[in-house]
Amino acid sequence: MLKQTILGAFLSLALIGCHQQTKTTEAETPVETQKLTDKTIVDLSYEYSKETVYWVTAKEFELDTVFAGDTDKGFYYSANNFSTAEHGGTHIDAPIHFSKTGQTVEEIPLEHLVGSAIKIDVSKNAKDNPDYLITVEDLTNWENQIGHQIPNGSIVLLQTGFAKYYPNKEKYLGTTERGDHAIALLHFPGLSPDAAQWLVDNRNIKGIGIDTPSIDYGQSQWFKSHVILLSKNIPAFENLTNLNQLPNDGFEIIALPMKIKGGTGAPLRIIALLDN
Ligand SMILES: [Zn+2]
Repeated sequence: MLKQTILGAFLSLALIGCHQQTKTTEAETPVETQKLTDKTIVDLSYEYSKETVYWVTAKEFELDTVFAGDTDKGFYYSANNFSTAEHGGTHIDAPIHFSKTGQTVEEIPLEHLVGSAIKIDVSKNAKDNPDYLITVEDLTNWENQIGHQIPNGSIVLLQTGFAKYYPNKEKYLGTTERGDHAIALLHFPGLSPDAAQWLVDNRNIKGIGIDTPSIDYGQSQWFKSHVILLSKNIPAFENLTNLNQLPNDGFEIIALPMKIKGGTGAPLRIIALLDN
């Protein structure tokens, strides 16, 4: 009797288990197909690894194994510790990075990190010029070609084409050297302060991103574009990839940084959603 009860209980548990498993699978499959097939998702983030490109004075990414293997209890277990500077790889610059009263990472409203986006491709202009500065004309050319202004509340992504060099530091940063002296050796394109000022004065953007290590170009000494944009609480997304897979207009961005309290920047998982 006891045996039967135990067996019975075991069987019903097994059946409940099967039933739940089937139910979960049935419930999840339609959600995935319904929610994910009407948009194409493009990952604009790099992985974090030993290859990840950091600012030349920033601590690089480290991953330490805590444990990886079979335990004496028979199950497999693995866990790591990691450490990283805020500003390295695909990351966000929070406004406080260059503005004393600016928002820290956790204070940036989610509305500024999610929404409609445009892409301005200047890769032809930057092709043979690692010191290329994106001009006001580049921005107005985009508007003339598309036939409307940069829409209110847009996230603006700037494609210089430099992602193709990543993670080759010589080509992507202009130097393999590290430390304070290496800052003068940086060469990569960025947004000119004039164009940053024009955006702030004439358009209403809520975020900006670029496929280089910094929104200011490598040779910048005063980081004026950072100051101009971040002072207006416009966050910057840096070291983006796969911008060549995006259209020039009419897509959406979801950019979610690690929620570091008081953070001046943070690792960022940023994706684009494209209409099919
Ligand atoms: Zn940064």
